[in-house]
Amino acid sequence: MKTEIVKINRERFTEEELEFAARCLREGKLVAFPTETVYGLGGNAFDATASARIYEAKGRPSDNPLIVHIAETEALKELAEDVPESAYRLAEAFWPGPLTMILKKSDKVPKTTTGGLDTVAVRMPSDEIAAALIRLSGIYVAAPSANASGRPSTTKAEHVIEDLDGKIDVIIDGGASAIGLESTIVDLTGEVPLILRPGYISAEQLAEVLGEVQFDEAVLKRSASENVVAKAPGMKYRHYAPKAPLYIVEGKSEEVIRFINTEAVKHAAEGRIVGILATEETKKYYTGGMVFCAGKRADAETIAAGLFDTLRSFDETGVGVIYSESFADNPLGTAIMNRLLKAAGYHIIHPNEDGEH
Ligand code: AMP
Ligand code: MG
Repeated sequence: MKTEIVKINRERFTEEELEFAARCLREGKLVAFPTETVYGLGGNAFDATASARIYEAKGRPSDNPLIVHIAETEALKELAEDVPESAYRLAEAFWPGPLTMILKKSDKVPKTTTGGLDTVAVRMPSDEIAAALIRLSGIYVAAPSANASGRPSTTKAEHVIEDLDGKIDVIIDGGASAIGLESTIVDLTGEVPLILRPGYISAEQLAEVLGEVQFDEAVLKRSASENVVAKAPGMKYRHYAPKAPLYIVEGKSEEVIRFINTEAVKHAAEGRIVGILATEETKKYYTGGMVFCAGKRADAETIAAGLFDTLRSFDETGVGVIYSESFADNPLGTAIMNRLLKAAGYHIIHPNEDGEH
């Protein structure tokens, strides 16, 4: 299949420029589009064939449900049942924006879209291109992240082309995603609202609106041996992983840098190049290996925006092993570490505790 690339200048574009993509969505075709979180791979949420095609293009397991993207809060009435009043308060506070709500699904939503579940995930993106496309298409757009299953999510059209060219109908190139991490997912179907995936909207922000909110146990997991089953089906899969094994190195900055520099020498002696995921503040201290800078430690938003792009970059370099710095335990740091831990298969090294490593 030939994939059409439609370039859109987000500073000034007209609806006509999106009409072709919107028509494709209406016809049951697949369109990748930018959102403020990551790029989404969209199809008609009410068309079981379109959602089946999304799973096929991504190579995604069919029990991993899709998020339905909407342009008006009104849509909740058609997509969900028994919508709690808290959902409207969250919508008022955070929509359009990077928050996904899990609600009881209506009969109109096919189970192919929800991975067989009786609940549906709904989000209203704030990205102007995404919002205009959904509105113009006149449908609800089921859209998982536009990456091949298992790979880091896509934050640029180039990443989508890498993973999905020839497998989908259209890719809208609207430049880089502003946030760079997927939406916060909050489940409103239980007694207490549960965060199934941390994101840009923090637990603290949700608590301000909801009163009480808890993390699903799986979100805070820090080791592969913790055998907790994630409530968001997608969170149980191996995800975001670069081709080379990735280790997170934790400790004081000097210890981390010394450990990684020593490893770089050892690996070089055996003919292996070490990839290093570093930051603006630390990159100058690395003496070997191939250093990639994810962003600025003092500004966590830059790390969030650069993380997936950096993880993808390693795959083009032929590095044999990757060491990454660890990130702080602040609200956005929780979302960053959640993705990084998955990418690393929960492999964490503490150089000072492990002695001679
Ligand atoms: P992605 O679209 O790639 O960001 O993935 C969507 C995420 O939302 C996955 O982790 C899904 O498991 C999760 N999700 C979607 N629908 C539901 C649902 N009904 N219940 C729980 N998690 C969901
Ligand atoms: Mg995904």
